[in-house]
Amino acid sequence: MKIRNAEILCVGTEILIGDIVNTNAAFISEKLALMGISQYYQAAVGDNPVRLENAIREALGRCDLLIMSGGLGPTYDDLTKETAAKCMGRRLVLNEEALENIKKIFAFRGKEMTRNNEKQAYIPEGSTVFQNGAGTAPGCAIEDFENGKIIIMLPGPPFELKKMFSEQVMPYLTRFTDKHFVSKNVNIFGMGESEVESRLKGFMEDSVNPSIAPYCGDGEVRLRVTASSKTVEECESLVTGAIERIKASEVGSVIYGVDTTLARALVDKLSAFKKTVAVAESCTGGLISKRITDVSGSSAVLGYGVVTYANEAKVKLLSVKPETLEKYGAVSEHTAREMALGVRAISGSDIGIATTGIAGPGGGTAEKPVGLVYLGVASDKGVRVIKLMLKGDRDRVRVLASSNALAEALREI
Ligand code: ATP
Ligand code: MG
Repeated sequence: MKIRNAEILCVGTEILIGDIVNTNAAFISEKLALMGISQYYQAAVGDNPVRLENAIREALGRCDLLIMSGGLGPTYDDLTKETAAKCMGRRLVLNEEALENIKKIFAFRGKEMTRNNEKQAYIPEGSTVFQNGAGTAPGCAIEDFENGKIIIMLPGPPFELKKMFSEQVMPYLTRFTDKHFVSKNVNIFGMGESEVESRLKGFMEDSVNPSIAPYCGDGEVRLRVTASSKTVEECESLVTGAIERIKASEVGSVIYGVDTTLARALVDKLSAFKKTVAVAESCTGGLISKRITDVSGSSAVLGYGVVTYANEAKVKLLSVKPETLEKYGAVSEHTAREMALGVRAISGSDIGIATTGIAGPGGGTAEKPVGLVYLGVASDKGVRVIKLMLKGDRDRVRVLASSNALAEALREI
C-alpha cells in the first residue's frame, strides 16, 4: 500500500475551548510535509463518542492515513481506541508488553496502579504497536490494506507524542512511501528573515529538490533544506550541495551552524578550542547560563554564571567600581565592560560575557528606553561592548539579549 494523503484528527475538548494550543497537529504536519505526504484537511473533535465516530468516518472517506492524537489515557473520556476500533471493525485485545510497561511505571513512581489503568494496554486486534518510551499509553496503527486505510493513534501529551512519532512512526511510514527524505536546518543569527530571503531569492525559488524554506522565531532564522530521492545517500548529497552553496552566498557570514542552537554551537566551539566562558547577568537574570547549561557537556566550558541584579552584587562579586555605577548608571557601556572583565577575572575563564539593560515594561526613560541592553565581551583580545536596542515585551527582550550574548561569545572564540 502507498500513502497518498493523510489527515490529522486531534481529540480533546480542551482544544475546542482554547484551553490548550494544538501543538501536536503542528508537529505532525511538519513531519508529514518532510516525508512528502500530502495533507488536505485537519480537524479537532471533543471527547464525545458520537462526534468522534463521525469525524473518523468522514476523514477515512477522504484520506488513506488518519493520524489521531489524544484520548488514549485511562479515564472514561479517553475514547479514541474504542471508537477507532469500532470504525475499523476490530475488537480490543490486551497487549502484554504495554501492560508490563504500565506496571513498571507505577512501580517506579511507588504508586498503586488502579484498575482503570489496564485499559490503556488494550489495543485494536492485529494492530502495529508503538510502545510508549515516555509515558503509559502505547500508540498503535490499525491497518486495513484491503481498503487502503491506516489509522495511527498517538498519546496526547506532546512529549510522549513527539518521541513516539520521531522514533517509531516515521520509520514505520517509510514503508508506505516510495521516497526517502533528508532534511537539515541551516542556523542563522544576525540577519532578519526578509533580508535572508531577498539575498537568496533566486536560489531559493530555483531550488525544487532540495527545497529551501525559511523559518523564523526569537530573532533567529532557520533555512530548512529538504531533499527527497530514492536513496538516503542521494538525499544527503543533494542537501550537502545546497548547504555549501548557502554558505558560499552573501548570508554565509551569519550562519553559525547546521542542525544546532546558539547555545549548543557555543558549547561545541568552546570544547573544540578547549576554552571556557563565564557569564555575569543583570537584565537576563540567568537566562544565558540556563541556555548554556541546557546543553549536555556544558560543564566542560562553563564554570561560573552569576546573576548580579543589584548594584551591590555587581560591586561585591564582579568588582565593578562604585564610581562607575554612580557616574554612568547600572545600564551603561562602562558597567557592562567592568562586569565582563570582572567575571572573566574571578573565574579565570577565557571569555567573560555580561548583560545589563532595561527589560521593561517599567524602568525606561527617554535616554535609556526599554529594550536598551549593553553586552560586554572580555577575552585575551581585550573587552568590547555592544549596544542593543531590542523591541518586544519583557520576555522577548530577555531572550533576544541572551541570544545576542551567545552569538557574540561564539564570535569571540
Ligand atoms: P493521558 O494519559 O495523559 O490522559 P491521552 O492520550 O488520553 O493522555 P489527552 O487526555 O487527550 O491524552 O491529553 C493529555 C494532555 O496532553 C492534555 O491535557 C494536554 O495537555 C496535552 N494535549 C493533548 N492533545 C494535545 C494537542 N493536540 N496539542 C497539544 N497538547 C495536547
Ligand atoms: Mg486523557
